[in-house]
Amino acid sequence: MLDDTAEAWRGRAARFAREELIPWEVHAELNGGQLPLEVKARHKRLAIELGFSAMDVPAAHGGRDARVVDQVAVWEQLGQVTNALCWCFSEPHRWMFEACTADQLSRYVLPLMSGKRKECYAITESGPGSDPDSIETTATRCPEGYRISGEKWYVTSANHADYFILQAGLADGPHTGSQSLFFIDGDTPGIELVRTPPFSHTFSDHHPIYRFNDVIVPERQRLGSEGDGMQYSHAWFRRERLMIAARCCGASARLIEEATAFAATRIVGGEPLAEKQLVQAMLADSVTELWAARLVTYEAAQAHDRGQDLRSLHARCSIAKLYASEVANRIADRVMQIFGGRGYMRENSAERFFRELRVDRIWEGTSEIQRLIIARALLKRGLEGM
Ligand SMILES: Cc1cc2nc3c(=O)[nH]c(=O)nc-3n(C[C@H](O)[C@H](O)[C@H](O)COP(=O)(O)OP(=O)(O)OC[C@H]3O[C@@H](n4cnc5c(N)ncnc54)[C@H](O)[C@@H]3O)c2cc1C
Repeated sequence: MLDDTAEAWRGRAARFAREELIPWEVHAELNGGQLPLEVKARHKRLAIELGFSAMDVPAAHGGRDARVVDQVAVWEQLGQVTNALCWCFSEPHRWMFEACTADQLSRYVLPLMSGKRKECYAITESGPGSDPDSIETTATRCPEGYRISGEKWYVTSANHADYFILQAGLADGPHTGSQSLFFIDGDTPGIELVRTPPFSHTFSDHHPIYRFNDVIVPERQRLGSEGDGMQYSHAWFRRERLMIAARCCGASARLIEEATAFAATRIVGGEPLAEKQLVQAMLADSVTELWAARLVTYEAAQAHDRGQDLRSLHARCSIAKLYASEVANRIADRVMQIFGGRGYMRENSAERFFRELRVDRIWEGTSEIQRLIIARALLKRGLEGM
């Protein structure tokens, strides 16, 4: 199904996942997600050398200009890894090269590619939740630029990042009520870590809550023009939703392979578990659903590479994320069942995936929100317009 270029990317990512990352999963699981510092540094260095941090960067900026299908091939393989060990590098996204000034590219965006800086996204708030259009954090004009006030929840990787990309509503001026995104350095006065809640998974990347108390941000740190925020957030959502779908496919594939190997060797009632037709049915349903999820995901990637209409791509990314994440959760449930009690042990990848994949139905827009996006696209443009 993949051409030679995508196959080459896929192969590099598969080897990296299998040889470098997967061997450290249980260590991470039993140590609060942490790896020895030298191992962490090695993973980051290798990922950057393999080109993963430069995939979505135009060649004019020193990037690899990879097609979306190549990137999906990489993230599918990285999705085979638990404990978020594949988050060992940051990567600029193509939309940033449309949104950012030369100064912003050199200060904030390109250092992601080289591994010198790390970002985190602060969009979600406790009140508006799934509806980012109504976020309450404000950006008010002041002589130095903007004064940002508000509270952000679930800021993934903030404990490793050195700057935020924050979304705020404009409180005054001609674009009052619309949204903008801002680069905010982590050491800017007024940023307060409220707390770091524990979550189901064991990741070294936390999801803390931050309060922004009259944080002063110069105008040169606003992305694009005033009011462009939702447009760029949508670009971010599309990309993340597609890559979540890719990772869910990778996770599903590993789960199926591990369950198949286990079922072939586990003897129950004098014969391998794999001979039991009820177990075969679980494996068959899983394989069938994985193939469907892969096809939806790769077709959405190819639609990007074909340059399909943005509104159609938006719906396609939602379809891929919705379907692949729900499939992966069903597969994790079945695979844990096939492993029996062994599947409930934290040293078993099925147990870790069972917890970790659950959030893929929640973040970057819940499954319900994806359904709303898909239904609205259908009602507006019909099936042919999707
Ligand atoms: C581990 C983790 C990491 C995250 N990382 C980040 C991050 O880095 N940056 C960031 O900005 N955000 C992040 N998020 C936030 C995430 O995107 C939100 O949790 C998600 O969008 C849902 O918002 P909510 O939690 O407020 O749920 P709510 O909006 O409160 O939704 C609760 C329930 O109501 C449903 N619901 C809501 N609206 C509707 C509707 N109109 N119709 C039908 N059902 C509806 C939802 O589907 C859900 O089932 C993270 C979340 C988690 C759990």
